[in-house]
Amino acid sequence: MSFDRRDFLKSAGAIGALAAAGCAPGPSTTPARTLGTGLARGLTLLSFRDGTLDRLGAKTAKGILDVARAAELLRLYAPSTLDDLLQQEDGPSVQAVVEAALTTPAAAPAFRPEEGLVYGPLVRRPDKIVCVGLNYRRHAEEVGAAIPAHPVLFNKFNASLNTHRGTVTLPVDLATQFDYEVELVIVIGRTAKRVSEAEALSHVAGYATGNDFTARDLQNGRGGQWMVGKALDGFAPIGPYLVTADQVDPDNLTIECRVNGETRQSSSTSDFIFGTRQMVSYISQYFTLKPGDLIFTGTPAGVIQGMAPERRQWLKPGDAVACSVQGLGELAFTLT
Ligand code: ZN
Repeated sequence: MSFDRRDFLKSAGAIGALAAAGCAPGPSTTPARTLGTGLARGLTLLSFRDGTLDRLGAKTAKGILDVARAAELLRLYAPSTLDDLLQQEDGPSVQAVVEAALTTPAAAPAFRPEEGLVYGPLVRRPDKIVCVGLNYRRHAEEVGAAIPAHPVLFNKFNASLNTHRGTVTLPVDLATQFDYEVELVIVIGRTAKRVSEAEALSHVAGYATGNDFTARDLQNGRGGQWMVGKALDGFAPIGPYLVTADQVDPDNLTIECRVNGETRQSSSTSDFIFGTRQMVSYISQYFTLKPGDLIFTGTPAGVIQGMAPERRQWLKPGDAVACSVQGLGELAFTLT
């Protein structure tokens, strides 16, 4: 970081006056604004690729704001990636930069059109990716499983992460039964260790659309552990956006998945067996959840595995999958 905290606070205090004057930053006598650490609010964030680097973007009425570039132009500090924002718990800096950029002409070069953007996975280095299985009533029924008494947990790895408009490479020499699972993804924003259900959602930074992509023959045929069918490279597409938690009612969202344009899953998170509060609280009893961690919350009915055996046509190279969760944007990817 090129600015220390004191400079940052000074600059942040000055920015209101600068914005009003519409001029480049300079010395100001405006009192410093007090910014603490905390979660971002009111923002739709994304990660986009610039060469080999990911950069933090904010979706605005003026286009996608390159947050680090805007901070540079405005002489403010902001984390340059979504991983950094989450792990530094520095929502307020990003909000200050976005607000200033929208009203300060000097920041104009930091906006770019969303069209043509290459997306990164929202995060690249979460401490953990925890997944909940069999968490929708109708899905548990369709695959012939009992309604679980406790959340069923498994995991993916960071190498499983994939992007909006990305490609999932199917290891066709190892498996044949490839299946989709649209899911609401919880992104943790504050450390959660043994938190109660009542306080659970205050530890959430935001939500995203995800797909718990699965090889069923590996999930069900490798000794009782699901991991090998779930955690393959690229089997966790997520994005395009992280919508901050203050804007989302996570237990009442429509959720859909389409394959080659045909609707396969269409449900609501209100069909959850364990709601978002219960999931975050339950998982935090066993594993300390850290900022940037992801929780895949289970998939609704409509997966290929749930169809009668003679109707199952597993996914294959060339198929296009589109997933959406209400208000969180459409996650599209193709298979090769
Ligand atoms: Zn799943």
